[in-house]
Amino acid sequence: MKAVLIILDGVGDRPIKALGGLTPLQAAKAEILDLIAERGECGIMDPIAPGQPPGSDTAHLAIFGYDPEKCYPGRGAFEALGVGVDLKPGDVAFRCNLATISDDGVIIDRRAGRISNVDAEKLSESLKEIRIEGVDGVEAEFIHSSEHRGVLVLRGEKLSRMVSDVDPHLTGVKVPKPHPLDDSIEAKRTAKALEEFLEKAGKILRNHPLNKERVKRGLKPANAVLPRGAGVLPRIKSINELWGIKAAAIAGGALYKGVAKAVGFELIKVEGADGTVNTNLKGKVEAVISALKEYDLVFLHIKATDNVSHDKKPEKKVEVIEWISRELKPLVDTVLSENYYLALTGDHTTPCEVGSHTGDPVPLAIIGPGVRRDNVKRFDEISCALGGLNRIRGIDLMRILMNYLGRVPLFGE
Ligand code: ZN
Ligand code: ZN
Repeated sequence: MKAVLIILDGVGDRPIKALGGLTPLQAAKAEILDLIAERGECGIMDPIAPGQPPGSDTAHLAIFGYDPEKCYPGRGAFEALGVGVDLKPGDVAFRCNLATISDDGVIIDRRAGRISNVDAEKLSESLKEIRIEGVDGVEAEFIHSSEHRGVLVLRGEKLSRMVSDVDPHLTGVKVPKPHPLDDSIEAKRTAKALEEFLEKAGKILRNHPLNKERVKRGLKPANAVLPRGAGVLPRIKSINELWGIKAAAIAGGALYKGVAKAVGFELIKVEGADGTVNTNLKGKVEAVISALKEYDLVFLHIKATDNVSHDKKPEKKVEVIEWISRELKPLVDTVLSENYYLALTGDHTTPCEVGSHTGDPVPLAIIGPGVRRDNVKRFDEISCALGGLNRIRGIDLMRILMNYLGRVPLFGE
């Protein structure tokens, strides 16, 4: 018995004026998504809790069966795992932006003019020479991931994730200094090491010939590193230990790969899977189908629905949903013919009229042998609310799936 878990990032929405009061899922002609709803048991799901706007990381943790209120270790570790860093217990990792700041330290552009991969890679390379001298036994490693994005890992004794964000998510303000968020020696050491790294990085980047050349070309220099989301490895049992299953994940974005890796999914790499609307979805779907031969649970993450929601483009969201629906056909055919289970849902609602995550529930549908088919015929927020699963929390979903897979032991006699 095997299962597929598909998460359409930010797929949930609210009624939209431009769509005549429909949600994008209601407005879309999404035959395959509707087929899943029609053949299955449906419901709505609060990824974290009713009314709680989730981050993608906490929502995924919950849907994988881990209570984020108890075991959320900060975003940085997920980013690091997602870009392939071999993170060790005790390491503290940060998500970073390469940014443009003025001579007096005011943030001009948090993404350094959406710097190209080539330039960002070269600049990041120059940060490898940085040695931390002011804090004993601490090393720093900066890894470029894509465009303006990177990861900083502080490695050594007595470090803590309790340090403040340096990236204020704003422009026109001075870059704040990192400070410890509690009184521990670990937090103080981490803030001090981080401050030293940032000073040295700033000096190297300001004087880098490539940045001088960028200015001549009329481009913004990437002359500062802005870290945020300090994180460590979560202390949890892996999904394999919990349920006795082999699990694999197929995702584009680093954060999603990282959360899956942190809880014990093996990552399957797909060429051209990049977490955008131009992703190689065909390749991802093929990878899921072949992974099902080897794994008990295969997780497929699709990010495009969230990207267009943040961009506040409801018509585009409808198109993206219709495209995803078409591309999923071979996978749904396989699931039906092989008698696998499939759960289709989102990790949160990102209403196009709002442009950020909100705490509304998301639709959910499950198909597979013995699933109690209900009367719902369409996969959308309103139809699924009438289904047999009613309204559940994200953390309930994994046990529901594992019950179908016969992996949940009896409680009592
Ligand atoms: Zn998300
Ligand atoms: Zn989002």
